[in-house]
Amino acid sequence: MGCATADGAGRCRGQAVSRLLALLALGALLHLPCAAAPREVPLAAKPGVDSVDGRAIADFPAAADAVIFVLTRKLQLPMPSFTMELYADRAEFAAALVTHMKLKPEMATATAAFAKAAVANKRVLVNEPAMAADGWPDRLVTMAHEMVHGSQLELSGHRPLGRHQWLVEGFAEWIAFQVTHELGVVDLAAARADMLARVRPVRNDGGLVALARMDSLDQWLKVRQERGFNATYPFAYLVTEFLVERHSYAKVLAYFRSYRESRDAVVNFRAAFGEDLADFQKALDAHLAVLLR
Ligand SMILES: [Zn+2]
Repeated sequence: MGCATADGAGRCRGQAVSRLLALLALGALLHLPCAAAPREVPLAAKPGVDSVDGRAIADFPAAADAVIFVLTRKLQLPMPSFTMELYADRAEFAAALVTHMKLKPEMATATAAFAKAAVANKRVLVNEPAMAADGWPDRLVTMAHEMVHGSQLELSGHRPLGRHQWLVEGFAEWIAFQVTHELGVVDLAAARADMLARVRPVRNDGGLVALARMDSLDQWLKVRQERGFNATYPFAYLVTEFLVERHSYAKVLAYFRSYRESRDAVVNFRAAFGEDLADFQKALDAHLAVLLR
């Protein structure tokens, strides 16, 4: 799905949102058991590591180490000293969403049915059963995406990034594919071609959603629910790619950092990129008209 959060600081990523509504109704009838302790892995860069081959990764701690290596050493992103918590049971993961994301129990149960991971309360929560069907390349994409939300919070001084969700999510997705490409487990050109193939039909079937309508988390979730995965994550990837091309990677990092000084997203966007969202939208529309031809 998109993301669920109580306070704007937590995010979760998964694709099978169609089960959400049915489970929301069912969830009201379920009771969450007491949470068993998850396996905890501190997230920290390992000194003295010069390269990582992602193709050899076969467990979550090694995956976390590899993602941190690329984020911090190749992409100039900070990794806060969060803890990764591995939940071997969906109900335990749901209980963690209640504790750390402040989700209501029925929403947590519904979310745990499809959400593969989430970031909340200085933790990367991993739902191992939801990841089970994925190979390690896909698991690494999901983990990298979530861990980038940790980097974004570190950049912002842990101020909530409640606005411009298309950029919060698009940047996490764009970085996740840079990371997995760097680790040798994803062919970035092929992944990008797949995203173009996913986004083209969205444009032809109802049109791409204006960025101003994917601003708040509620708006993002609504678009995710109504228009689907391809209208949100792959689209936001392409938008972020264009933002980086048009303005630079450093300016995108400066945008997230600017929340330390100002909570005004509109002011921060203009200060970082030298244009308003409406001007960027115009340039994006022209770019996509060619890209998605
Ligand atoms: Zn996300």
